[in-house]
Amino acid sequence: MNYISTRSTGAAAQMGGFQDILLEGLAQDGGLAMPASIPQIDRTTLDAFSKQPYPALAAEIISRFATDIDRAVIDRLAAQAYTVEKFGSAEIAPLTPLGIEQGAPLAILELSNGPTLAFKDMAMQMLGQLFEYVLTQRGEKLNILGATSGDTGSAAEYAMRDKHAVSVFMLSPQGRMSAFQRAQMYSLQEPNIHNLAVAGVFDDCQDMVKAVSADLEFKAKWRIGTVNSINWARIMSQVVYYFKGYLAAVHVYGLKIGDPVSFSVPSGNFGNVFSGFIAKSMGLPIAKLVVATNENDVLDEFFRTGVYRVRGAKETYQTSSPSMDISKASNFERFIFAMTGNDGAATAALWRELAQTGQFKLSGTVSNTSPVSDTWRNVKSSGLVSGKSTHQNRLDTIRDMDARYRRVIDTHTADGVFVGRKYLEPGVPMICLETALPAKFEETILEALGRPAPRPSGLEHLESLPQRVENIGQDVAQLKHIIAERALR
Ligand SMILES: *Cc1c(COP(=O)(O)O)cnc(C)c1O
Repeated sequence: MNYISTRSTGAAAQMGGFQDILLEGLAQDGGLAMPASIPQIDRTTLDAFSKQPYPALAAEIISRFATDIDRAVIDRLAAQAYTVEKFGSAEIAPLTPLGIEQGAPLAILELSNGPTLAFKDMAMQMLGQLFEYVLTQRGEKLNILGATSGDTGSAAEYAMRDKHAVSVFMLSPQGRMSAFQRAQMYSLQEPNIHNLAVAGVFDDCQDMVKAVSADLEFKAKWRIGTVNSINWARIMSQVVYYFKGYLAAVHVYGLKIGDPVSFSVPSGNFGNVFSGFIAKSMGLPIAKLVVATNENDVLDEFFRTGVYRVRGAKETYQTSSPSMDISKASNFERFIFAMTGNDGAATAALWRELAQTGQFKLSGTVSNTSPVSDTWRNVKSSGLVSGKSTHQNRLDTIRDMDARYRRVIDTHTADGVFVGRKYLEPGVPMICLETALPAKFEETILEALGRPAPRPSGLEHLESLPQRVENIGQDVAQLKHIIAERALR
């Protein structure tokens, strides 16, 4: 499988094979990596997948995108990434049927049973295995530098903590994360994990990461990389659970292979739902992919109006589903590229317009030469639909799910359930993706239910574990000094 950039055409777009793009961020032209073609899964193959345990299913999907790694190796890496010890059950991502609403079976796909209680573990655990394998093969090391407001940083640290070829330098805003999130990250004691708490907010952390990354010489010398949400291997690893969810629904509801199923996806950076789009493009019979946003509704606005208008920090609200407080969805470019029919020139033109004016519009007049209206027609027939929720909607949904099904869900999952319910169709299961466990966002659960969220066993005393974190200023020189002192080489 070859990979191409979303912003060029022909030979200029070529980015190499899977191993070439695994460790790279952006393409040279600023675009993102996309597979040159989407592997197809026919109904017979899909049927055969239904007998596979999760790690084997993962290897089936991943081996079609990572054709430059031996299948036996992928089998082994997937088996190491998706274990009962890490995910709590052999199912890895269990499907829980809830009830029938308006004739549609409603179910939850549990993606948050991994080490950090959020769905990011699903991809990050596989990414850790892939990094370790490729780096060891090449005799190289990687020092991951990142900024986190919570979920991504801890998922990365838990995935890399036992790796020899990788270290992690993770910046977090001092005093801005929940006690649970802090304890989760800072209690790690492995010497290759470096928690740096910055006196500032998340954007300040992000700016420091950008400043270090912009120093290309420093970046190359200390082998600095990232694990951000634009990494293709993360998208690829997430495709697996759409297959898993589909096959489980076929089994539970007595459907035939080929019958349609819908998914509702709490969305921020558009990575999760884009993985669903890839699954659909591979031939998985998905009826609707529901893009659920909170008050930060850039994506909902786009799917309703055809206008993609990114927002600044001032227009980005702090909500009770904080991992979706995003006003510029990094992976969205991949979707638009697909909607233009893999036209890198058209995509580049749209992103130029975005850079100049802060928005672009697909429905109607756009000042470039691409067949824009075709692109909008493609969006309309892509199966992606959208909606948004408010804090009150989330509280109501959490209460309703608890009262109706005795099931406590977190605020992000509540966004997905609330919006997913608007797209129910008789006979078509609606699978709502659970992207975090409620224990991670206790305050809102307390507000909604008047009692705390249940904690998974083993984490009862998380906050009393010894913590290992270093406070630093908004000081790029200081950060570089720390990296130079401790980076793997
Ligand atoms: C990251 C995250 C999301 C958003 O996922 P994207 O792939 O960025 O759209 C939703 N919910 C939770 C709990 C998350 O951590």
